[in-house]
Amino acid sequence: MPRKLLLSLLLLVPTLALAGPLQIFVSVPPQNRFVEKIGGGHVEVRAMVRPGHDPHTYDPTPQQIAALARTDLYVRTGVPFENAWMERIRAANPKMRILDARSGIELRPLAHYDHGSGEHEHDEHPQEAALDPHIWTSPPLVKRMAANIRDALTALDPANGAEFSRNYHAFAAEMDALDWELKAQLAAVSNRKFMVFHPAWGYFADTYGLTQVAIEHEGKEPGALSLTALIEQSRREGVKVIFVQPQFSGQSAETLARAIGGRVVAIDPLAPDYADNMRRVARLIAEAAGP
Ligand code: ZN
Repeated sequence: MPRKLLLSLLLLVPTLALAGPLQIFVSVPPQNRFVEKIGGGHVEVRAMVRPGHDPHTYDPTPQQIAALARTDLYVRTGVPFENAWMERIRAANPKMRILDARSGIELRPLAHYDHGSGEHEHDEHPQEAALDPHIWTSPPLVKRMAANIRDALTALDPANGAEFSRNYHAFAAEMDALDWELKAQLAAVSNRKFMVFHPAWGYFADTYGLTQVAIEHEGKEPGALSLTALIEQSRREGVKVIFVQPQFSGQSAETLARAIGGRVVAIDPLAPDYADNMRRVARLIAEAAGP
């Protein structure tokens, strides 16, 4: 091969690499679906926390850290494993852009522990732990996240900005329709409180005028005193269902359900099929509230 041709082929390589889809990592599902909705065929998206794993204690695999070297954009949401790993994630590829999907969203404090007895130890990271990262459980907030994603993709790939903008509008309309549907589904629910093991549904509750009562507090099971207080509260308020997350089993959720003659039902904030999952969660919460 003539040297000149070889040289021009080598010069072509970076151009070809840029022409491929943007390589993107998100911390947890279903954010990967949101990025795919906006990016279409111009993105290749992976979630750091794999199905069945707990996003509070997750450790990225060495392969995932290595893959960051070829990543254009990392989308973070402030879930606990991410706070612990962010410096290492950043160091794996200093050229990688990082989008904080929470930008422009007013964060709520994590559920307060109003039935406790001070038997919990203080958290080591109070600022990070104090704010609720589960923003995607509210469709109007997903719309805001989608706008952040659109802007980040457009900055990386301006040539496809018009397409990202069209995709955003279609997805935003989908989220508006879902929001109306969930509002209608939950409007007539008489008992506005629902009990969960892990407080992942605070933004959902705020959006639909419900109150989430959490068993767990900052990742810890309640002590005996708190559990007794929760049992009393559940009896008083007619709670029959304790919602748990499939990624971790709360022993205290089972204990509590048995004590009140209720049952444990799994709802998953990380399910990939976002809209269908939200409809299912709304239906289960409405059913748990009773007629
Ligand atoms: Zn969580």
